[in-house]
Amino acid sequence: MRLNRNAFAALLVIGVPALLLGAPAQAASKVCKLAISGNDAIQYDKKQLTITADCTQVELTLTHTGKLPAQSMGHDWVLVKAEDLSAVASDGLTAGIANNYVKPNDARVIAHTKVVGGGESTSVTFATSALQKGQAYKYLCTFPGHNAIMNGDFIIQ
Ligand code: ZN
Repeated sequence: MRLNRNAFAALLVIGVPALLLGAPAQAASKVCKLAISGNDAIQYDKKQLTITADCTQVELTLTHTGKLPAQSMGHDWVLVKAEDLSAVASDGLTAGIANNYVKPNDARVIAHTKVVGGGESTSVTFATSALQKGQAYKYLCTFPGHNAIMNGDFIIQ
């Protein structure tokens, strides 16, 4: 299908606004969408999330399928190198809910959502350029006491 320049630009604006915020859109750009949920039993519904190596951006949506409020059963989704999980969770405790249990400007945090309560959802979009092949990545919930159960492997195939 041939598109003139204006039609192509319009498609970009309508379909892929996230790309316009980052690097200039390229023909090879690929936004990969992931979804995960958390419940009132301190569980994610997935123990691993997988993207392919050709994804240039990831759009992750977290849905809290429970009923409890964020103050008592909040969930977030935080992506880190596997070896940084404990330290990021620990510093998140200190940061408190005002910072979504993530230390502000924490360079170890590759991407994170805000904390949501029952019935809410949130999403985050990030570039995969920060990810390195061969590195092990984990995601976790940094709400106090949750990360031991609420974590999983983030895999790049
Ligand atoms: Zn949680």
